[in-house]
Order: sequence, then structure tokens, then C-alpha cells
Amino acid sequence: MTDTYLKLVNAGSTKTLAKKLGLPRPAVLRRFVPGQPLVVGPTLVLGSADHGAPRDATDAVARLLVAWGLDVRRDPAQLEDGARWGAVVVVLTEVETPTDLSSALLALGSTLRTLAPSGRVVTLSRAATESDVPAVAAARHGVDGALRSLAKELRGGATGNGIVLGPDLAGTDGLGVPSVAAALRFFLSAKSAFVDGQLVTVGSSAGTVPSDDAGWGAPLAGKVAVVTGAARGIGAQIARVLARDGATVVCVDVPPAGDALAKVANAVRGTALQLDITADDAGTRILDHAVGRHGRLDIVVHNAGITRDKLLANMTSDTWDPVLAVNITAQLRMNEQLLASGRLADAPRIVSLASTSGIAGNRGQTNYAASKAGVIGMARATAPLMAPLGGTVNAVAPGFIETEMTAKIPAVTRQVARRLNALQQGGLPVDVAETIAFLASPAAGGINGEVVRVCGQNLVGR
Ligand code: NAD
Repeated sequence: MTDTYLKLVNAGSTKTLAKKLGLPRPAVLRRFVPGQPLVVGPTLVLGSADHGAPRDATDAVARLLVAWGLDVRRDPAQLEDGARWGAVVVVLTEVETPTDLSSALLALGSTLRTLAPSGRVVTLSRAATESDVPAVAAARHGVDGALRSLAKELRGGATGNGIVLGPDLAGTDGLGVPSVAAALRFFLSAKSAFVDGQLVTVGSSAGTVPSDDAGWGAPLAGKVAVVTGAARGIGAQIARVLARDGATVVCVDVPPAGDALAKVANAVRGTALQLDITADDAGTRILDHAVGRHGRLDIVVHNAGITRDKLLANMTSDTWDPVLAVNITAQLRMNEQLLASGRLADAPRIVSLASTSGIAGNRGQTNYAASKAGVIGMARATAPLMAPLGGTVNAVAPGFIETEMTAKIPAVTRQVARRLNALQQGGLPVDVAETIAFLASPAAGGINGEVVRVCGQNLVGR
């Protein structure tokens, strides 16, 4: 499950050789370690309104970043010789015509050669809606194309992501909105190492931000979370990251995985529940266990999933049915039971694992892609049911992640699949887990019905 090529092109004589041959050289990504600085190097804040018009939103972003202890600058010229920008935040909330995009985006362009390894570009903009004047909608939606393209131009493990203020947040600069602050912090941090080219819409001002650094360090303190498929792979890592962030974790997996499950549950000081999630009463049993053993249930992560790949021409119900049963039907049934119970804690969170196969499609995976696209449909339609509870449901769509599931892919196909994203490497289970922990946090209460890809920005497909 290790990417030997990534190691070779980043060390010793093979690094020099790869450089000489002009081979792709994926960077070693900066990943989260508690206590590390949020951003390494100065942060530049640019605004579309820097030339004449009001600068309120840009100023508000700068003030927020200063409060987080960042070294904030307002002018691309304010970089010492030899220094590199740790991050550039571009505030585009005030654009009204496509030409309004030029000054800030060209100023951003002038900084990209001096962006640090694993540096960050984050845009803040507004959603284009059908009721906008066409020029306004063009300008706002223009951010989408520019962000996704510039993210593909970044090198050295740097990423570009965007925060979009939804229509209900018109009239605010967004900075008092908990999920805007939380998304900005997530995208700036090393927790979003493999999230690239994504735009996340913040739809409401629900949620609460931690009041100090200790709070940001343990955002899930006091919460009880359930993770399905927690015996190994991504699920085991989700359990570890949720526990690191302060949650008590119930680890669920099938009885044959009982030993591995017990090890994970012990390591995170949580409890194990042996359960096949396709059981008719799986949702109720999860609730009974969480409430019975830990007093509450705040967070449900639907991670358990299986593949049975075959070309559709060769597919039979033996390979089709189990994939749909585990990956989507079980989740639908569990959600129904959880929501009908009235026993979820206030402001509950559901995060469900989709896949980029469910977005772009993947040869040999019609069954899997139907189930994972189904997860996205389910998340969007369940979101309005969660909102009255102050809750959210979101989908996370991983691309190529280094796990036992992807280790089964034939070697050559696996090598190619790893390189087909802007970061030219596979992600790690921890990258998916960090995104899930972010969406599960109280501060993410305004992000509901969204799909966040953790794919290093796949180059093909949508
Ligand atoms: P994995 O096969 O390593 O682990 C899945 C776990 O789910 C296993 O422990 C398994 O026992 C458990 N499980 C399967 N059926 C179950 C059932 N009926 N009840 C309870 N537990 C069950 O998979 P992974 O690579 O860690 O993937 C985790 C999730 O992420 C899956 O939903 C997968 O589809 C999704 N995903 C993975 C990748 C990737 O590159 N690895 C990419 C996109 C999406």
C-alpha cells in the first residue's frame, strides 16, 4: 500500500535522475500534526474590491486571520526576498461583472511562483443563482472555472479550494458565519492535504465555532460518534481521527472482522459493535448501543462499503445486489430509523462515503457507481430533513486512496490511477478522515447536502 515511486522521486540519487529525465515528481504532502502552525509563511489577502470599491469583506478576512495568529499581508509586493507565501486568500464576494475578477486573479497569478510547498490558495465568493442579473451570475460562476483551473496549475503539493456563500447568506460578508470560518481554517490547514479544486457551499449560519485554540484542537469533545466499517482501511482511520478530536467512537464492522475491530476500538478507547449493516434493524441497534453505552449519539459516519467489479455485460445479480445492499440500501434504512427515533442528540451529523466513481463513472463499476451516486442523491435529499434538527448530512467522495481495497487493483493500472490527479499521487486514509472530522464538527453546521471530493483533483471526469 506504499507508493514507492513517490519515495524514489523525493530522495537521493533517484530524485536527481527523475529531475534529469523530466519525470513527474509528486510532492510529499504536508499533513496535520497537532501543534504545527496553521500556515507556514506569510498569508496574503487579496480582494476584488482592492481598487476603489469598499474593502469590508477583505478587511474582515484579514482580521480573522490575524486573530488566528497568521502573518497577514495585503500586497503581493510585501514579500521579503527569498521568502514564500504560505497561503493566498482571495475575496471575490463583491464581483458584479466578469471584468471584476481580473485584478484580484491576476494579482493572485503574480504570487503563484512564490507559493510555498504545500501552500494554499482559498477563494471566497458567492453562489450564482437563477435570480441573479446575468452579468452577476457570470462573474460569480466564473470563480468556479478559474479556481478549478488554477488548482491544476499549482505545484509542490499546493492546493486551491473555494468557499461559496449560498443564496441565504446574501447581505452578509460571511465572516460571522461559523462554517465560513471553519471551512477557511480547514482549507488553510494541513488537514486538507489531498482536497484540491473543491468549492464548498456554506448554506446557512448554523453551527458554532470554538472560542479558543484549545477548542479548535478538540472540536468533537463530548460527542459520541459511530463509524461503520471501522475494522480497517479508511474506517479505522476515521475512528482514530474522530477520537483524536475528542469524540467517543463506536466502531462497527461485520462479525468476521471482530478481532481487528476490537483492536481499533481499544486503540481509540471506544467500543466495538459487531453488526452487519444490511440487517433490518441495524440503525436501531446502533442507536441502542451508542445511547445505552455512552448516553447519546451525535455523529454517524456511513463508511462500510464493498466493490464487486465487472463490466456490465458480465454483471449478474450476484455481483450487483450486494454492492447496492451494503453501499446504499443499508444507509437509507439506517437513516430512516435514526431520524424516526427522535433519539439523536441535538445538531446531529451524518457523513456518508461516496466515491469519485459515482461522479465521473468508472469502467467495470456500474454497480458501485450506482450505489455511490445514490449516496450523493441520498445526502442531498436528506439534508432538508436534518436542517430542522440543526443537523447536517454530507457526502465525502474519495478518489484513489491507498488502502487494501485499492491494493487489489493490478499493479500497472494502480500506478496510472495514482498519477491521474493534480497532486500526482494517491491519498491516504487520513485525508478522508480529516475531511469527515471537519464536516462532523459543530462549526460545520452551515454545510448541509454538500459533496466534498478528497481526490487530489482528479484530472479526468467531472
Ligand atoms: P475496505 O474494504 O478496506 O474496508 C471496508 C470495511 O467495511 C471493512 O472492514 C469491511 O469488513 C466493512 N464492511 C463491509 N461490509 C460491511 C457490512 N455489511 N457491515 C459492516 N461492515 C462492513 O475499504 P476502504 O478502502 O477503507 O473504503 C472505505 C469506504 O470508502 C467504502 O465505502 C469505499 O467504497 C469508500 N471509498 C474508498 C476508496 C479507496 O480508494 N479506497 C475510494 C472511494 C471510496
